[in-house]
Amino acid sequence: MAAKVRVTFLGTSSAAPTRDRGLPAIVVRREGHVILMDCGEGVQRQILEESVGLGKDLTVLVTHLHGDHVSGLLGLLQTMSMAGRKKPVDMVAPAKLLKWLDVTSDLLNVGLTFPIRFVPARPGVVLRYRDFRIRAARATHSVDAFSYVVEEGPRSGVFHPDRARALRVPEGKLWSTLQKGRSVKVGDRRVSPSEVTGPRRRGVKIGYSGDTRPSPSLVRFFRGCDLLIFDSTFRASDAAKAKERKHSTSVEAAAVAKRAKVRKLALTHFSARYVETGPLVREARKVFPETVAAFDGLTLEVSPSPG
Ligand SMILES: [Zn+2]
Repeated sequence: MAAKVRVTFLGTSSAAPTRDRGLPAIVVRREGHVILMDCGEGVQRQILEESVGLGKDLTVLVTHLHGDHVSGLLGLLQTMSMAGRKKPVDMVAPAKLLKWLDVTSDLLNVGLTFPIRFVPARPGVVLRYRDFRIRAARATHSVDAFSYVVEEGPRSGVFHPDRARALRVPEGKLWSTLQKGRSVKVGDRRVSPSEVTGPRRRGVKIGYSGDTRPSPSLVRFFRGCDLLIFDSTFRASDAAKAKERKHSTSVEAAAVAKRAKVRKLALTHFSARYVETGPLVREARKVFPETVAAFDGLTLEVSPSPG
């Protein structure tokens, strides 16, 4: 089954918003499951604008505890409570986030109508779902910071209707059972999915750096991503500032993408000092041609690599 994975950029600025760019937040949508990566102030309007829908299975991944990445969280939780959400929310973040949530929701009398299943961020697999998992790695920033990958398990192979017909499997329910990877009974014989589908395919892998300097360990962590979203706060001529503030330039992001052999790079977290991102993306493309500059509202569809 070819589940679509869509990545939408809700906020693509860095520490301060601009007229066109909100604070960091990215949403990954996969078969009714929403994964929100960082949650800057203003995220709720963007969630409405992009019709994300908050009644779904929801996982929140927070890279680090800087205001621009978390300040939208309390309001978001409050709105979901007002809507009477009952489903738990899964959350991965540096452990201290819970303290902030406890103190602020207590002071502001925010009573949540749903449980938060909190996982303190640490390197390795932090969450497992039926068809995908989430891994974390340490990033290099001015505070404790993490990068994440959302990684599907292997996808089933392409279904061949001609083979199913040749084996006299009636179209309909039995076909969908086979497509889901389970065998079916036709007359007195069992037909297994491998008889009617091609080889299993690699699932989709999406990486998000959060705020970080480039590092060899992140190159390993992001290896083979179909889409890598990377800190691109500065342009190459401001490399000294990137180093000092523990961020990356667009060219450094491109170098990580190239070394990690990813398929596509999306630059984000742009400093408010740049009116245009054109120069940043042009510099990056010299190193890694498959580069785009994210903007608020950009949606990228990610499909598994054909190979
Ligand atoms: Zn930031």
